[in-house]
Amino acid sequence: QTKPFADAVKVVEQIENSGYEAFFVGGCVRDFLLDRELGDIDIATSARPEVIQQIFKRVIPVGIQHGTVIVQSAGGSYEVTTYRVDGDYTDQRHPDSVHFIQTIDGDLERRDFTINALAMDRYGEIIDLFDGRKDIERKVIRTVGNGYDRFMEDPLRIIRALRFSSQLGFTISENTLRAIKYVKKEIENIAVERIGNELAKLFAGEHSETGIKYLRETKVYEHLPVMIEYPYIINKLPSDLQPLKSFGAVIALFHLLESAISIKQWVSEWKLSNKIKQEAIQLYEGLMHYEERGLDFWTVYCLPKHLYEDFTRLVNCLFSPDSNLAADDLIEINEKLPIESSRGLEVSGHDIREIFPEAEKGPWIRETLIAVEKQVVAGKLENNKKVLRDWIKWNPHATD
Ligand code: ATP
Ligand code: MG
Repeated sequence: QTKPFADAVKVVEQIENSGYEAFFVGGCVRDFLLDRELGDIDIATSARPEVIQQIFKRVIPVGIQHGTVIVQSAGGSYEVTTYRVDGDYTDQRHPDSVHFIQTIDGDLERRDFTINALAMDRYGEIIDLFDGRKDIERKVIRTVGNGYDRFMEDPLRIIRALRFSSQLGFTISENTLRAIKYVKKEIENIAVERIGNELAKLFAGEHSETGIKYLRETKVYEHLPVMIEYPYIINKLPSDLQPLKSFGAVIALFHLLESAISIKQWVSEWKLSNKIKQEAIQLYEGLMHYEERGLDFWTVYCLPKHLYEDFTRLVNCLFSPDSNLAADDLIEINEKLPIESSRGLEVSGHDIREIFPEAEKGPWIRETLIAVEKQVVAGKLENNKKVLRDWIKWNPHATD
């Protein structure tokens, strides 16, 4: 558990040896105190980014204008950010400017929640200006300073409060909750990509039931894309929903619960990546196939491995409350699959054209190939060139 810090300590030490201050800050200190697995290790320093660039050999300038660089050293990657205070957030998207400062106090004060506003030096000594440690002990999420002001300054913090409750299983303090309810409409003004990131983490959180409970209770969803038009879908979420790792799984679930909202609409209104869109489609199609035919070879074949977990969680809460499908069940089937993908097929479109030299090109070639693929995956045909060519000869244009 302390191993990641053991390496990172060298980075802090090197900055200090150059005459500057450096502390571990934010999520890594919080997670260290909670004995949770550490995500990224972030370091705050009094040194300017240009100085950090001189101290270390390998520095990636990811956000110099905000004072952030990534230092690759001591076998790890560390985000190193110069102490700063944010200027006004007039557009509620980005601070208009940032000002570098000399002491860590102001840097901690700009942070969102007390549990995220802790710093730790290289000896493990903690700086705790806002009773963050007490809040960690009591499992409470509380804004640093006045909630109303802090949420007005950056309304994304509202979604962040819900997602931390979902990841940590913490309650949101009464004052903070009141401020959320007061300011929530402002969420409509922030960049949708920023919200999507946080919402994905909310649905993936180990205590997602807590995050979803707050989402319902605060009615924050009434200010989110898509849900703004279909607010009732939040009540259709299954009560025994498990955390979903891929945001695509969340979209697939919502599409299943309300078919009037297409995956395409989700993707375009939330400005999601093509990768997430593909995952949503694969999961949705897999679920539809499962509903019809159960867990057959084709279902497993069409799903990439990294979606097995989400797939089984969706199956378990949507279709078969008694069965308990596990990712291992899919892995077991996967190991028995005759081919991994269509590239493993012993025939190609070229063979088909050879078998029917007179026929015109067209979608039937692809359809025939898919039919062959289904036969092979189901174990009904041996994946052997001669066998497959013979089958194609007698089953042209076959669709199933
Ligand atoms: P995770 O483990 O999920 O990465 P984290 O606490 O590290 O959690 P990040 O989003 O990586 O969260 O942010 C790092 C730190 O930066 C936070 O702990 C917090 O101190 C600060 N922070 C991030 N976003 C904001 C924000 N919108 N307003 C104020 N402080 C923020
Ligand atoms: Mg982080």
